[in-house]
Amino acid sequence: MIVADVEQIMEQWAPRWIAWEKDNVGLQVGNRKARVRKIHICLDVTEEIIDEARRAKADMIISHHPLIFRPLTSVTTADPGGTMILRLAEYGIALYSAHTNLDFTREGVSMSLGRTLGLKNIKFLAPLRGLMTKIAVFVPSGSVGPVMEAMTQAGAGIIGNYSHCSFQINGRGTFLGSELSNPTIGTAGVLETAEEVRLEMICPRFRVSSIVEAMKSAHPYDEVAYDLYPLDNESTEFGMGAIGELDPPQSLSRWLKTVRSTLRAETLRVSGPNPSQVRRVAVCGGSGSDLLQAAVDGAADVFVTADVRYHTFHDAGNQIALVDAGHWETEHPVLPVIASKLEQACSERKERVVITVTNRKTSPIQVH
Ligand SMILES: [Zn+2]
Repeated sequence: MIVADVEQIMEQWAPRWIAWEKDNVGLQVGNRKARVRKIHICLDVTEEIIDEARRAKADMIISHHPLIFRPLTSVTTADPGGTMILRLAEYGIALYSAHTNLDFTREGVSMSLGRTLGLKNIKFLAPLRGLMTKIAVFVPSGSVGPVMEAMTQAGAGIIGNYSHCSFQINGRGTFLGSELSNPTIGTAGVLETAEEVRLEMICPRFRVSSIVEAMKSAHPYDEVAYDLYPLDNESTEFGMGAIGELDPPQSLSRWLKTVRSTLRAETLRVSGPNPSQVRRVAVCGGSGSDLLQAAVDGAADVFVTADVRYHTFHDAGNQIALVDAGHWETEHPVLPVIASKLEQACSERKERVVITVTNRKTSPIQVH
């Protein structure tokens, strides 16, 4: 297996195009063609993690937080980030980071947190919107089949478990070609009317250019008329946070003991009511304060997240029990899930790759 194969496996699960636009995810350091025999998984890349990877003779590190986040002007030993990049390069260790794309995918950071905390019937707390585009193209009646097939092969028309999803409306198109035109139907310089079909298909936003290219190459006209519509539909595949149920319900004070020990949290900061029966729980690994209202609207009794500001605790008031369990603490449950996804993919490909997960708590925060 080579680095590019690991990238492909990770991106089938947590595609790069769903990441927050200011994020920097994907291969950060390394050669895509290099062999991979050992992979080490962590949340943060630190000097100690690089030491661990080197001791384990790992060829690749997969981290959740990107080592390279802001644009670099130099890579030198003058700063800690540059020093780590140089060390990785020197040891031939590739670094791949899956950050907000891992937050937003199924079985990603928040769903793993929910599962670790014993939740059942886990769903996204706030499904992502605006990931899809509708393509409407005007095709002469006799060419609808090949154009639709070309678009389908390029990734259009998939809705849940259905492929080849399209809508077709018969109509009449008009055109008048200049002397420079080469019309498939009619003659240049003469106003023509043609029986056409308006063919509509949806596709993920990131596939639009390759689908348009495929559509044009299967289309008989020299100038293809088509429209692209950004859609605001909710995604069924990607979302933020997670919500599920505790079965059987427990009192908040009892359940918080489990939260603390499971997440290896030294402290929990908690506000709001102290329900005797916690049934519905919303979670978001990492900084999830923006999802507070979604947790309240989802009728959650408790919202577990991290990096909560003082005023956000006030905003929560008595609407919901708000728990700040820490950033590293709410995100590390995804690490063994990354390992098992890779193990499964390697065994399907009959590849022998050793996968290790760090046990090191890489949070820089200490409690005194
Ligand atoms: Zn994070």
